[in-house]
Amino acid sequence: MDPILDGLNHAQREAVTSSAPVLQVLAPPGSGKTKTLTARVAYLLSHHGYQPQDVICCTFTIKASREMRERLSKLIGEKLQSRLILGTFHSICRRYLVKYGYLIGLRKGFGIADSDDTRAILRRIIKRLKSTIDVRAAQGRISKHKAHGLSPRDLSDKVKADEVELVEIYSAYNEALAAANLLDYDDLLVRCCDLLREHPECVSNVQTVLVDEFQDTNIIQYELMNLFAAKHRRITIVGDPDQSIYGFRSAEIQNLRRMQKKYSNTSVVLLESNYRSCGSILNSAQDVIEQDTTRPAKKLEATHKFGTLPVLRKLPNPNAEATWMVLEIKRSIALTGDLLRMCDFAVLLRSASLSTRIESAFGRAGIPYKMVGGRKFFDRVEVKTLLNYLRVVSHSDHSDALLNIINVPPRRIGDETIKQLTGGAEKAGVTLWVFIKDVIQGRRATEKKLQKAAELGLCALVKLIDASRQKLQDCADASAPCVLLEYIVESLSFQEYLLKTYPLDEDGRWANVKELMGQASDVVTSDGETNPEEDLPEIEGVEQQQTHPGEEALSRFLANVALATEAQSKDEDDGGSGSVTISTIHAAKGLEWPVVFIPAVYNGSIPHSRAEVVDEERRLLYVAMTRAQALLYLSLPLKQPRVGEGEDGSTSLTPFLPPRIVKSRFRLKGPQFHEQVVYGIADTLRRARPTAEELCKDIATLPSILDDRWTSEGEEVRAEDNGWNHQQNWGDSTQEPSTKR
Ligand code: ATP
Ligand code: MG
Repeated sequence: MDPILDGLNHAQREAVTSSAPVLQVLAPPGSGKTKTLTARVAYLLSHHGYQPQDVICCTFTIKASREMRERLSKLIGEKLQSRLILGTFHSICRRYLVKYGYLIGLRKGFGIADSDDTRAILRRIIKRLKSTIDVRAAQGRISKHKAHGLSPRDLSDKVKADEVELVEIYSAYNEALAAANLLDYDDLLVRCCDLLREHPECVSNVQTVLVDEFQDTNIIQYELMNLFAAKHRRITIVGDPDQSIYGFRSAEIQNLRRMQKKYSNTSVVLLESNYRSCGSILNSAQDVIEQDTTRPAKKLEATHKFGTLPVLRKLPNPNAEATWMVLEIKRSIALTGDLLRMCDFAVLLRSASLSTRIESAFGRAGIPYKMVGGRKFFDRVEVKTLLNYLRVVSHSDHSDALLNIINVPPRRIGDETIKQLTGGAEKAGVTLWVFIKDVIQGRRATEKKLQKAAELGLCALVKLIDASRQKLQDCADASAPCVLLEYIVESLSFQEYLLKTYPLDEDGRWANVKELMGQASDVVTSDGETNPEEDLPEIEGVEQQQTHPGEEALSRFLANVALATEAQSKDEDDGGSGSVTISTIHAAKGLEWPVVFIPAVYNGSIPHSRAEVVDEERRLLYVAMTRAQALLYLSLPLKQPRVGEGEDGSTSLTPFLPPRIVKSRFRLKGPQFHEQVVYGIADTLRRARPTAEELCKDIATLPSILDDRWTSEGEEVRAEDNGWNHQQNWGDSTQEPSTKR
């Protein structure tokens, strides 16, 4: 048997080996779409003779591309895997623009504007134009236009009166980005589209294109896919219309149909077995999605028939809800005799803002956790400051980054000086950096003369940045980001600065600086896609822009940081120690955990009070529920001041939950509960654990845990006291759990 096909079911094999040039694999969550796509990449390389550097594979998150690389390493070997053009749309586009952007007039060494930069730029423009538009609203609307491929010029003849102002802002915003040689997230896609339209030869080597999570592609990404595949028109996509949750970001569910129309030779393969979740979780999730009566009926079977029904728990308030989660996690780990580890738990949130109380409860209880899809780590002041230094070194036109560090650590550059400088730069039509340099070198003057102390401060800053740049030039390899960070930290006496400024928590802050250095030092592998030998392939007749390896390593590191926060999948590695994942539902796409908590399932949170499309909110809950393998907890606080609907802040349960969860009254007690839950987990985990041997070992230890705990300590944990609330613990299965394995 071909090892690539080993362990795949019939339909999956059909998809992997299909010789159809255009293939859509459409299937529900947990049916092995990503697994199939990965196997297909391996199959195409080994059976169709494609070279890895001629295959483009787009994933939705950085985490997904890393996982795919790991799986591919096992199937086809590290070396071949590393040459694939595999990553998120954004990161692939960035690579093309770095190499070929010059063909469309992009300046060398462009930087990426993250959401904070974008807002800062917009804020300035809105103020200058005396507009009343909200900054975030402008940001969202501009992004939407970009995602639809509409430039200010495209809009100017179409817009309604109330949009005129926005178009003006949009246009000024683009100019500001261009002046600073910055691209925002949308630009990465839009400009790459421009490039490939004008210069299709840049992708003339591409034999085939594969896309995961296709239901969440937007118009531009769809267009990119077509452009990547323009020469040979060979495409494989996998997706699930029921999991379309990025409509708010202009994802186009119609892309599926569009694609079938464009490629009349499209073949479709359906997968119908779910390998992820136990039956009762899957059936409950099905009940949720089937409330949408407009959707076509689909077949989906659980391969794990056993399982416990999802638990619905109401708690008095959000703090109690967080504390309850802590207790449940601790209890489950204790009860299952360490069969479950911290990293087996995830808390999935409708909005990132719900995380605060949970984080502090976990912190107090000593539960290790990592935030995904939040901006926690890169948002910390000390981390942000150092990143801004790197950004200025990498990209001197980045005025916003420069403003952020101009007086950090303090160099006696006050607000008045800053006003003089920014005003002067604007008037002179040069970037802040150029203006500052001109001032201290006597080529230009500010309107009001600067104080001597401020001037000295500016000199020190310029000297440091110039010296850092020289250092970068001297460092011609991937260690550049780390070398530079060390240099900057030392030159600034950053640790002493932290001690002086934050005497109470200097330790923690210094640890963050260390962590940042660690991340910078493994830039080569940190996004799971960059690898020195894995540059874009040379194409005859098209010259690639030469880049300085150190500069490229730095810009790649900064891009990874920017895209990690954007793609909502920042990963802080467990390092094997294991921590609970706290994530937004959006960032949890495609992932799975043995135990999943979905707190705050009340009206206003889900569906969100500001949500435009209720169906999309339902799909979000569906996506969240289908991340769970063995246990699923839903919960809500009965009161949530400011958000709850009632006058006293009381909440009401989301309308999406099916009766089988809401009406569940039967409560399991004591050993019965314990036995069933443990075996429910074990049965599901059997397939999730890396080796059968490991699981057998786990299972072998179970009966003794059962005996010990329940004979010596009696009903130590009573079901009804702890939120276990099952009507029929084994879901729809009539089979009894077997203790004989
Ligand atoms: P989602 O829609 O959430 O992205 P998916 O369809 O991409 O889900 P995968 O993540 O590929 O599903 O697979 C879900 C789980 O099922 C994984 O743990 C995977 O290893 C397992 N799985 C898939 N196919 C099989 C199979 N044939 N045999 C055993 N396990 C499988
Ligand atoms: Mg998937």
